Amino acid sequence: MKRFAGSFTQQEALPEEAIAAAVEVMRSGRLHRYNVAPGESGAAARLERAYAEWQGVPYCLAVTSGGQAMQIALRAVGVRPGDAVLTNGFTLAPVPGAIAAVGGRPVLVEITEDLVIDLDDLAAKAGQARVLLLSHMRGHLADMDALMKVAEAHDLTVIEDCAHTMGARWNNTLSGNFGRIACFSTQTYKHMNSGEGGFLTSRDPEVMARAVMLSGSYMLYGRHGAAPGPEAFADVALDTPNMSARMDNLRAAILLPQLAQLDANVSRWVEREAAVREELARSPAIRLPEAPAAALRVGSSIQFQVEGVAPEDLLARAAERGVELKWFGAQHPAGFTSAHRSWRYIAPQDLPRTDAILATLMDMRLPLTFSVPECREIGALIVDAVEAR
Ligand SMILES: *Cc1c(COP(=O)(O)O)cnc(C)c1O
Repeated sequence: MKRFAGSFTQQEALPEEAIAAAVEVMRSGRLHRYNVAPGESGAAARLERAYAEWQGVPYCLAVTSGGQAMQIALRAVGVRPGDAVLTNGFTLAPVPGAIAAVGGRPVLVEITEDLVIDLDDLAAKAGQARVLLLSHMRGHLADMDALMKVAEAHDLTVIEDCAHTMGARWNNTLSGNFGRIACFSTQTYKHMNSGEGGFLTSRDPEVMARAVMLSGSYMLYGRHGAAPGPEAFADVALDTPNMSARMDNLRAAILLPQLAQLDANVSRWVEREAAVREELARSPAIRLPEAPAAALRVGSSIQFQVEGVAPEDLLARAAERGVELKWFGAQHPAGFTSAHRSWRYIAPQDLPRTDAILATLMDMRLPLTFSVPECREIGALIVDAVEAR
């Protein structure tokens, strides 16, 4: 039997430039973002400026993780303990976790077969909350024009969770530029790698001033790279608690050279996902989620549903072929949790449509260490595993 030998969790090495920049920060001893020499702009501030420019927004805040970015975003738009917050019924555990961390009550919205939030269910539940934490889970983008219309009609503030859509676009607008705030992750398995880390971006000066204070900026907000001016802080500086979630200069230094490669990497992911999809499309037992023409999807992972094979058997057969699949419908989550029934800290919710989809939904990472021919080989091995009887 043919077997793929690559590792599904192996990311690329960091660029040499990033390694040199990290060494320079360590030699300086000035790792804390506010520890700058006279006239110096630290790496965290420079990264914020560069990311804001790349994302095409005035404000960016660098923080310790995507999860912290979401908690800060929820607080910055005024979510209080006991408030309901809408979110996708299919997402990763840090999303309901962020809502729980601020004392909110997650209200889960069904998804469609294309793995995006179901806009009819969203409209039906919109009256229960003021905020939607929209998760672009696994990079699948909802029809953002239609979604924003639903949000406007119901006066919902939208926070976008772009952990899997850094660099993705809807009708040529970058994911993250639709809602009031966007949250990004630079954790190892996302689109830039600083081990842990994240960003929050916005065009709203008041919300952003609160976010900067929440991240733990003391009275040093003047040392930020892409924060609003001092006037935005006048009313919030002493009224906003310090949650200590600052990014440090070491991580920022290794992210700056990666930002320069992001556009190229988006194209590399697009090619890789297309190669796997082409192979998977050969099997009638495999259903691939469809992305509308308006969506530019960054395929750092791929999902598909299977018919006629027990998911447990498929996992085993794929593993024999060296292909590491995950199954969202597993009774006991392995590795990560994305099934809402695994989140016992939130009120149980009835999501029959989502459950039926997750029951046969497979998930696979596509690290950039795989070449395009390897992606083809993996796709063919999956088809072989599905069709082996
Ligand atoms: C990884 C992830 C996050 C959070 O990112 P961290 O930086 O790991 O906290 C949020 N949402 C989704 C969908 C994710 O996959």
